[in-house]
Amino acid sequence: MPKGCSRNLSDTMAKKEKATAAKRNHARIPAQAAQSCPFCNNTDVVIASNRYAYVIHDKHPYVEGHLLVIPKKHFESIMEMDTKTLCSTMALVKKMEKRLVERLGVSGITIRQNWAPFLNESHLVVRHVHFHIIPRAPNDNLYYKVNRISLPDLRKEELVKRLK
Ligand SMILES: [Zn+2]
Repeated sequence: MPKGCSRNLSDTMAKKEKATAAKRNHARIPAQAAQSCPFCNNTDVVIASNRYAYVIHDKHPYVEGHLLVIPKKHFESIMEMDTKTLCSTMALVKKMEKRLVERLGVSGITIRQNWAPFLNESHLVVRHVHFHIIPRAPNDNLYYKVNRISLPDLRKEELVKRLK
């Protein structure tokens, strides 16, 4: 095969990769979504963070110590996340699980990540990937609950302090 052919082939492949990357970035729709996204513009107390993700207390918690671990970059689903960000986000999930067990005496935990079609609480939907860390207790019947608890600001501040 003449040299020219292989160069043309690699040029074509590079163009194809560029087009695919552009398509992928377009599918993410970050610019407009990020402007109005509460997780891209967080104003809540950050309990812990690393280079790629941060942790806050859920604004509408199921139980005390219900945390959210959120990648700093705007992604709508796990499928869009690069491995480095995903691993760093999960490292923070692990860190906070440990703190909940050691500092709040939590005896069990559920990790949840909802992707839009599965959510029925549409008024709470934030289209920015986040992982729920939900402390569990024996017979808590968590999944039979309809209403979230009302957590006073003072109590929330105390929990955040203990986990910081
Ligand atoms: Zn966002």
